[in-house]
Amino acid sequence: MPLARSATCSEEIRPFPGGHPSYLLRRSSRRRSLALRVSEAGEIVVNAPLRLSQREIDGFLHKHADWISARLQAARAHRFDWQDGALLPYLGGHLQLRLLDQPGPARARQDGAALLCNALPTQTPALVLRWYQRNARALLGERLAHHAARAGLAMPPLRLSNARTRWGSNSAKGVISLNWRLLKAPLATIDYVICHELAHFKQRNHSPAFWREVEALFPDWKKVRAELRQNGRLYFQF
Ligand SMILES: [Zn+2]
Repeated sequence: MPLARSATCSEEIRPFPGGHPSYLLRRSSRRRSLALRVSEAGEIVVNAPLRLSQREIDGFLHKHADWISARLQAARAHRFDWQDGALLPYLGGHLQLRLLDQPGPARARQDGAALLCNALPTQTPALVLRWYQRNARALLGERLAHHAARAGLAMPPLRLSNARTRWGSNSAKGVISLNWRLLKAPLATIDYVICHELAHFKQRNHSPAFWREVEALFPDWKKVRAELRQNGRLYFQF
């Protein structure tokens, strides 16, 4: 292979494998290895050697998918306006964020339709995310146990996920992963996603037979799935 005398570069916007968002791919003959960066604004930039195959780049992104999700979440959390009175999506409705300035430890707790958050402004996003995750674990676990019993299945292990493009999954080992952001969606959406994953214990595919299993557990699946496809992105602001 001839050595490049001066640097050759290219830049393109590429779709992220498996879903949004896009990322900026910069190739340069000067680079010898791959590098990945997520900016404060949530822009993903990949620097790659000029001739590296797209397959290797995709594999690299796939390998770092969790890290990218975490960084994107941090960038998004940053963008959400965590002001007193902000509306936090919750079970298809909202909780109103109330920022308190009281002595004592940083703490978030629900009081009716409000989420009272006693913390420094810089601590608020992390505190609210923790509150969501804690409550998601309790509620999703409860709904999973309920639907597993209806389906005549033992309660499967539950993992809370922070995935960027998935609401749920059912692993080869039978672990159900559910996105904590489901706590923002209506209860019917939560129930649909859980029934969908439980149906995968009977059919490990999305065949007509699979959808019949879903229908037996959750007859209204078509309507709820359509709503989730339409509104799902709104639940990813934080
Ligand atoms: Zn599925």
